[in-house]
Amino acid sequence: MASTFRLRAFVDANVLASPVPRTILYLSRPLADYELVFSPWVEAEAERHQSPGHVPVSVLRQRYDWRFAADPDEPAELEDTDAKDQPVLAAAVEAGAHYVVTANVTDFGEKDLARFAISAVHPGLFLKHHITAETYREVLEVVGASRGREPRDPLSIHEQEISVHLSALFEAHRDLFGPATPDTAHNPPAIEFRGSRCVRCHAVLDDGRASDVVACRSCAGVAR
Ligand SMILES: [Zn+2]
Repeated sequence: MASTFRLRAFVDANVLASPVPRTILYLSRPLADYELVFSPWVEAEAERHQSPGHVPVSVLRQRYDWRFAADPDEPAELEDTDAKDQPVLAAAVEAGAHYVVTANVTDFGEKDLARFAISAVHPGLFLKHHITAETYREVLEVVGASRGREPRDPLSIHEQEISVHLSALFEAHRDLFGPATPDTAHNPPAIEFRGSRCVRCHAVLDDGRASDVVACRSCAGVAR
């Protein structure tokens, strides 16, 4: 019998408010090994930052039945996470998440992430490790077909949108649709991972590992 275990990723407000990362994460989910969750506090924060004219996150959540978890009554005490992000990490802890998927990895403190065995991961790096090339192709085809504006073909979406918002995913599948030229705004974030869970399998990583190690030994040897 297939395992029903799914990695649990808590979605930060900056990802929910940003259409490209949000759409790729949610469309890929049924074809991948993760579930997504966020809380009322995060939803309100995302809606404050959404561009005018965009469909509010709460409307999308209800329309698509996205998973919603309660904010904690008594939030976990945190040490070295930015004050504005403490409600995010506390809600992720409450939800039993293995990851916080966020555009701002460095807002989350090393000590807090280690204590609760959570990793903060940029959505581009997260998706690089959790969707196959086939899933990526399928999702970009769906995005293109369902949209009333350009870009609509997968290569153009890949070059113009994925390269900007999900750079590690772009690099992982760079020439999947033919030779690709990234948008000039393609500028990978300096830090895309922090924490103590393997980015791919949620195993707890060794203490004292090199700072650029994001996967456990067995995952590091596996090509997706
Ligand atoms: Zn692993």
